[in-house]
Amino acid sequence: MPLTTTTPKRVIFTDLDGTLLDRNTYTFEPAQSALQRIRQKDIPLVLTSSKTRAEIEGYRSKLENSHPFISENGGAVFIPKGYFSFRFPYDRETDHFFVLELGVFYPRIIDVLASIKKETGISIKGFSDLTEKEISSICGLDLKEAGYAKKREYDEPFFLEGGEKEVELVKRKIKEKGLTYVWAGRFHHLSGRNDKGKAVEMLKELYEHQFFSVRTIGIGDSLNDLSMLLAVERPIFLKEEGSPLPEPLRSKRNLTLIDGTGPEAWNEAILHELNELDT
Ligand SMILES: [Mg+2]
Repeated sequence: MPLTTTTPKRVIFTDLDGTLLDRNTYTFEPAQSALQRIRQKDIPLVLTSSKTRAEIEGYRSKLENSHPFISENGGAVFIPKGYFSFRFPYDRETDHFFVLELGVFYPRIIDVLASIKKETGISIKGFSDLTEKEISSICGLDLKEAGYAKKREYDEPFFLEGGEKEVELVKRKIKEKGLTYVWAGRFHHLSGRNDKGKAVEMLKELYEHQFFSVRTIGIGDSLNDLSMLLAVERPIFLKEEGSPLPEPLRSKRNLTLIDGTGPEAWNEAILHELNELDT
């Protein structure tokens, strides 16, 4: 890896579910040509997901990806040891990673969710209430993957019985308790004050330290991606047919809007982005 380059180093931050991965089958096959271009050009592809560390590590190995990644809606940033050539502060380390933690410890998150359930009387179920078998059937994952999805560290996906009124009440309660609510396309999520955007900013600073000049690209399909898309220079939003463009993106500069979600849309969007930047 060169220490500095004169042209900006491009870094791509990508969401997984409904973006690089098909929302139902979780395949990324239709994205192969863009993935290959990225590899050829030595562009870091940073998986930035609401998924857990264990789940993302599975996708990193399937994708032969050796770059840092962001788990659980920005709960933590995992940086492979030796990836950057300089020292930086971190919160903890594992065998292979230095970890920057932005999230609130999981037991506290599920405590808060339990108290909201009690205070509102709304029937709420989080991943911690579900067995691997239940998660497997709800998410269309096999049992092993469902086990990985349950290994949560900073964020609790949940669903509830009721409509908009109940959702609004739960959102208000979460805010009162100083935590964050976000919708990620399949579940409601409860986490600390972390979001994908804050994690992207931290990692961007490290890339800038390494490469001096960096151009960030972000791609996502859902409301939990907004902070990430607002934090990058080249945001790409994959818009589901018939859904409105989220308000915060309307005034965002350089926004690319793609009709459709999933790996086909990802492939098209990334190839287009790389061609544009090359000319
Ligand atoms: Mg998504």
